Amino acid sequence: MTAPAATGRTPSSVLEDEHRDLVASFESFVRRELEPLAAELPESGELPPEDMRGYVRRRSAALGFYAGDHPEELGGSGMPFTAVALLHHAAGRSGCPLAPSALAGSEGPSPLLRRGTPEQVERYLLPLVRGETTRCLALTEPQAGSDAFHLTSTATRDPATGEWVLRGRKTFVSNAEGADLTLVVAAVDGEPTGFVVEAGNPGLRIGQRYAGMSGEPLYEVLLEDARVPADAVIGGEEGIGAARGDGIDSLSRGRLVVAAMCDGIAEYALAQGVGYARERRAFGERIGAYQHIQEHLVTSRAEIEAAKLLTLACARLVDAGTEAPENAALAKLTSSETAVRVVDRALRVHGATGWVRGHPLEFLYRYVRMMTVIEGTSEIQKVIVARAMGLG
Ligand SMILES: Cc1cc2nc3c(=O)[nH]c(=O)nc-3n(C[C@H](O)[C@H](O)[C@H](O)COP(=O)(O)OP(=O)(O)OC[C@H]3O[C@@H](n4cnc5c(N)ncnc54)[C@H](O)[C@@H]3O)c2cc1C
Repeated sequence: MTAPAATGRTPSSVLEDEHRDLVASFESFVRRELEPLAAELPESGELPPEDMRGYVRRRSAALGFYAGDHPEELGGSGMPFTAVALLHHAAGRSGCPLAPSALAGSEGPSPLLRRGTPEQVERYLLPLVRGETTRCLALTEPQAGSDAFHLTSTATRDPATGEWVLRGRKTFVSNAEGADLTLVVAAVDGEPTGFVVEAGNPGLRIGQRYAGMSGEPLYEVLLEDARVPADAVIGGEEGIGAARGDGIDSLSRGRLVVAAMCDGIAEYALAQGVGYARERRAFGERIGAYQHIQEHLVTSRAEIEAAKLLTLACARLVDAGTEAPENAALAKLTSSETAVRVVDRALRVHGATGWVRGHPLEFLYRYVRMMTVIEGTSEIQKVIVARAMGLG
């Protein structure tokens, strides 16, 4: 029997057609500009230094990729959300450690600030969209992780000055050191409320530094009677008590972006696995000829295709005006767990070779695990879906 002619098309690639030129131009940017820079990094697996990430952010913003879904009046390119998802997919698939820095993530323009007052948009959001500044989100507390709005951090108004006084302890905050802004969620009369705290505020202190398993540090943020002006509430007076709703909306898009990145990482890992299986010989045969190896790679291929179709279909629904939290939860759950399994299998295919420090799969094995925790754990995604199914 002759093998069917290869078409070069996968089922999920059909959904990429609309933004193919944009993705190709991003991939060319990664290849021509970011890969040579990444070659200067001392060791794969560490977070690239901030000066390099800052350069990548600004360059990518100038080219229209970074924060590209923001409207032009906010300094973005006004691209549809599906295009953003495809760029994150391409970043993950590139295997380039600098590619994620070229796209807005948890350090970039926050959806919370999209609901800011016109002054807050001008002062804080626009420089974030241009990649000139970074921020962090201080939401999680020692006793409030998944149950994120079970806050003990408080904000009270000083009647004498009108200032807000923030007190509390935040934990596991990405990018807290060096961020120009800390977006703090604290309770005002028990209701979650977002505040902007500018760098240098004497009441905001970095406490413990946690070395993460994939090189990205997390920080404890201590709010020790941090005084911020009356207009530091995100969204002004209307923003008091509004962080819960704002947070839920913004998490949906954040989850889809994570899903897209995971699909790309999984494709990259699979390509590594297939390439190795075609070359490596054992017992006189290429290992790809053995069914146990094929099982790892074919199962991965099937799972990636399914995950990618789900992610891109959900992204298209966002563009069509349907932003159902359970869709984003389904996609994030599927893609992050798929990526963990695929990277694990690709590592198995590589034997000891992939286990060596400096090999891309060794890094990805550590890196991809965080995808099942950030933007809500896999269990929490299941809780969201179960609720949408009328359970619990
Ligand atoms: C790399 C990384 C970056 C992060 N960046 C930030 C950041 O920038 N800002 C920030 O504020 N936070 C950040 N976090 C914290 C993150 O949001 C929390 O770790 C996450 O929400 C889970 O909270 P937790 O760790 O307290 O776990 P817990 O909530 O204590 O959960 C422990 C276990 O119980 C499960 N569980 C909890 N509730 C339920 C339930 N109802 N049903 C079933 N299972 C449940 C969880 O899924 C998990 O398996 C980051 C975390 C990581 C790993």
